[in-house]
Amino acid sequence: MPFLLSSTYASGLPDLVSVVAVTPFAEPKLLAYSADTAALLQIPAAFFQQDDAADYLSGKKLFDGSKPIAQKYAGHQFGQYNPELGDGRGLLLGDVKGADGKNYDLHLKGAGRTPYSRFGDGRAVLRSSIREFLASEAMYHLGIPTSRALSLVGSNEPVQRETIEQGAMVIRVCPSHIRFGHFEHCFYTGDKNQLQRLVDFTLQQHFPDCLNAENSALAMLQQVVVRTAELISQWQAVGFNHGVMNTDNMSILGLSFDYGPYAFLDDYQPGYICNHSDHSGRYAFDEQPGIGLWNLNALAHALSPLIAVEDLRAALGLYEPTLVSHYMALMGKKLGLATIEPTDRALIGQWLALLQQQKQDYTLSFRRLADFSDDATGSSIRDHMLDLVAFDQWAELYRARLAKESATTAERKTQMNSVNPLYILRNYLAQQAIEAAEQGDTAPLHELMLVLQRPYQLQPGKETFAAPPPDWGKGMDISCSS
Ligand code: AMP
Ligand code: MG
Repeated sequence: MPFLLSSTYASGLPDLVSVVAVTPFAEPKLLAYSADTAALLQIPAAFFQQDDAADYLSGKKLFDGSKPIAQKYAGHQFGQYNPELGDGRGLLLGDVKGADGKNYDLHLKGAGRTPYSRFGDGRAVLRSSIREFLASEAMYHLGIPTSRALSLVGSNEPVQRETIEQGAMVIRVCPSHIRFGHFEHCFYTGDKNQLQRLVDFTLQQHFPDCLNAENSALAMLQQVVVRTAELISQWQAVGFNHGVMNTDNMSILGLSFDYGPYAFLDDYQPGYICNHSDHSGRYAFDEQPGIGLWNLNALAHALSPLIAVEDLRAALGLYEPTLVSHYMALMGKKLGLATIEPTDRALIGQWLALLQQQKQDYTLSFRRLADFSDDATGSSIRDHMLDLVAFDQWAELYRARLAKESATTAERKTQMNSVNPLYILRNYLAQQAIEAAEQGDTAPLHELMLVLQRPYQLQPGKETFAAPPPDWGKGMDISCSS
């Protein structure tokens, strides 16, 4: 057993947890682990070679000190309040100090039924577990705040979804699993003391710098607003569609959290809906900034017993300017601009309109644009455009704007390639890794993981991972059932 777990959450908030035993798999099998996350948790590499590593990583054996619990929370799902939520298939195993001195929760997803399982079986399938594992790795290496994944364990346990699938478990790692929905639960049950205890716990554990503020709950809310705005600006800049931005899937720390039917955009379609069950497009790609604010409103409402209404409004008012300024700065860098000028907003908007009209791949277009030079005919981006007149009009504006920058063409190319990924987790790539793993071959999964660890660097021999998706692989339908 590599380390000792504490129960910081369960000891601090005993009324918000249920003690639940893991329902283990008969024959767990370790399929993958993240060496970086293991290093963060100070787990020696040798642990993963032990015969019983999969037992520990699937809760069949418990790490020293581990007392698994399910957290109670609630949340707004597709705009409707649902008081019945909580960890329905995941258990918090405990927390441990990481190599960086911070505390990390270990949460075992797919661990069996809990008091909050409702009609569910408490399980997660291999397909969705691989997707969670890969997304955590991909986002981290892109530099986007995210929960991490330590391990992926498979099994021969049949799990019924649309078809019979294989059960699997992931250990998710992040400093806190507290969601907006935790605060909503305390608010809607009318237990002001419980709400205060949750806020105090969250402040002490995760926002200690807010404790000295005149109203520490308000100071925390302000930080959550800013972090959420920054996070969503990063999603929009990289082309990430979360797919289920219910308030129970919103991390209080502003991390990308609870990966379900997400997608990285292929062709630039701002209205893209990755979630097959999202019939109204509530969580479409271009709705995410607005939904972020909607969710923060729900959090602010839950905190209203502790914060005056005008202060809540002022805190929420930080959202839009933060999101816009971060997004513009990120997009400016993606276009090779060191600073943002007032007219750049139009330049960026016209570039995106061009990508949309000409059905261009979002990720690859920025890489191609890095080749842009004064000699427009030599730019690889131009070769991909269908309407050259429209492109040349925009290119003229871009060339004039670049002339105001001090960087040379070569410097700009290096800078652009350092912020525009070449390799992203396209759904069809994940799907290929999933189909192989379902047949017992994890080599494609491991290869994809390695490629995603260096998304900005050209990796010789990995050309297929940087290729545009085949037509069958574009805009794949991802089911919400997981
Ligand atoms: P999600 O859509 O994964 O964010 O889950 C929403 C809620 O449903 C959470 O309370 C989950 O714990 C619960 N849930 C999802 N899948 C299952 C399952 N297979 N068994 C029990 N509860 C589940
Ligand atoms: Mg969830």
